[in-house]
Amino acid sequence: MDKAQGSKEWSVRSLIPENHPRKESLIIREKIVEGLEEGYVVPQGLIAHGRGECFDYLIGEKTQQFAIDAIKASVATLLLAKHPVISVNGNMAALVPKEIVELAKEVNAKIEVNLFYRTVEREKAIEKVLREAGAEEVLGVGEDASATIPELFSERRRVSPRGILIADVVLLALEDGDRTEALTRMGKKVIAIDLNPLSRTARMASITIVDNVIRAFPILIKYARAMKSYSRDTLEEIVKKYDNKTVLTTSLRFIAQRLSEISL
Ligand code: ATP
Ligand code: MG
Repeated sequence: MDKAQGSKEWSVRSLIPENHPRKESLIIREKIVEGLEEGYVVPQGLIAHGRGECFDYLIGEKTQQFAIDAIKASVATLLLAKHPVISVNGNMAALVPKEIVELAKEVNAKIEVNLFYRTVEREKAIEKVLREAGAEEVLGVGEDASATIPELFSERRRVSPRGILIADVVLLALEDGDRTEALTRMGKKVIAIDLNPLSRTARMASITIVDNVIRAFPILIKYARAMKSYSRDTLEEIVKKYDNKTVLTTSLRFIAQRLSEISL
């Protein structure tokens, strides 16, 4: 995929003027559209992406301190976990395939495909993207998703008995609120990457990283590499000190303040 993705990116780059102020954002859009054309992103994924772009504008399209605080707590939680799992959907596979694989390696997490609009073809297409990005094992594809999450009635209730079913920590992004709630009710710690601090997912998660997955994943990897050598006591202290409500409130205050400064 490296080559294919590289050449696609190159061709898109050649279409967008070098000095275009929204160049990065346009390239990211192209990646999602490419996923749609290849059949693993659904049209609804484009709408979800648009909603994310709006909130990215509001936080200044930069990783803010409230996201860094959540990233540190996330890495500590992942490193302390017995069975951490990264839950992957179409948009994530389109935007950060290599980073998913790299983070999974750093924190010893399983990778599981879980889709709102589930078909075996889509699952297999996402598995292919992840394997081409270096994944050795991808759970949740076809028959492997043989267990169910209680209380959920969509196809997302189907999970792998070796993955999300037994996970103590699940990292997810672009997720719907009711699934986040179901996972939390099962006693799992949920780490959500969500640009919208008002979404149900952002509010239900144990840790919410209010940032774009494009920026958050490389930073998660960087901190995972640095924090791997920390003692369990130190990691536990970081988790204990973390308060998700404060982080969500801080992100909203940041947006409010930023808007009032801009509108002066
Ligand atoms: P909820 O059900 O949790 O209230 P929702 O119905 O708004 O959320 P979706 O429309 O499925 O959820 O959108 C998924 C979420 O992902 C949105 O909150 C959106 O802001 C966020 N999002 C979209 N793109 C990205 C991205 N690249 N990085 C991080 N978050 C994103
Ligand atoms: Mg929703």
